[in-house]
Amino acid sequence: METVIEIAGLDRRYNRVTALEGVSLNVPLGGVFGLVGENGAGKTTLIRHILGLLRAQRGSVRVCGVDPVTHPAEVLARMGVVTEDRDLPDWMRVDELMNYTRTFYPEELRKTFGLDAAARIGALSQGQLAKASLLVALAHRPELLVLDEPSSGLDPVVRRDILEAIIGAVAGSGRTVLFSSHLLDEVERVADQVAMLKSGRLVFNASMEALKESHHVLIVRARHGRDKAPCIPGTVSRKGNGPEWTLLCYGELDRLTHAVRSCGMEVALTATPSLDEIFVARCALPTNWREHVGAPVSVEA
Ligand code: ATP
Repeated sequence: METVIEIAGLDRRYNRVTALEGVSLNVPLGGVFGLVGENGAGKTTLIRHILGLLRAQRGSVRVCGVDPVTHPAEVLARMGVVTEDRDLPDWMRVDELMNYTRTFYPEELRKTFGLDAAARIGALSQGQLAKASLLVALAHRPELLVLDEPSSGLDPVVRRDILEAIIGAVAGSGRTVLFSSHLLDEVERVADQVAMLKSGRLVFNASMEALKESHHVLIVRARHGRDKAPCIPGTVSRKGNGPEWTLLCYGELDRLTHAVRSCGMEVALTATPSLDEIFVARCALPTNWREHVGAPVSVEA
């Protein structure tokens, strides 16, 4: 598979804080790649390496085959960026900003976004500002769009517009979008691939489909008055007490069902978990989660 971003063994420390530890990640060419993680998990730090704003202390970062720190012009020419600060010149008008980016392409999107061309940037609302930032990022038709929390602090209607623009940016164009978000329902809706960071480490990196196919919610009941928690290999989280438990497990459903039976219980119901449920369960795991769950970082269907 062709890749647009290649990160290998990346470490980052800020004095005593370890922001990234041994992160290896490839972003495939084309499609939407979602980066998720709790506050402070290392998402922005990872994105700053991709943008060439931070030099790898250990490991390597390649964007479109080159080091973004030593070849910034080459990388930035192929990339559109929106960061959390949405840093745009306050004194410009929307149409001046678009002239400044010297393109006519986002004009259509400006209309779709309902942005007034004569409005001053400084007078735009948070949502309008987010849209204007996205217009600028898309203006030179970049192959790679990197968005750090593009819809943070925005209302649901603006978030939907932004998401649709993200999907529109990749549709049929072979472009790649990498975006970080706390809003897991959004990531679940638009991302083809999802990676999760926890305390600077990669917890999983998988296609959305493979991730969801490899996790199962099981409601299990005891057959013979047993009231202990079942101990099923691959359990990521469990809730319940007495004879009924809800488990979120990683692995093949047949094997899980068999394991449930062999500890004197039966599976009453199975369901596919949401990304949010998988995320919350994974966040709550101890740092030695891999031994605990036996689940690999890369999940293949
Ligand atoms: P959020 O979702 O809150 O934006 P994040 O996942 O983007 O968080 P980062 O901003 O990358 O996380 O931060 C990762 C860790 O590195 C945190 O513990 C943070 O406090 C620390 N950190 C980030 N930047 C600096 C800095 N310039 N100096 C010191 N520590 C930093």
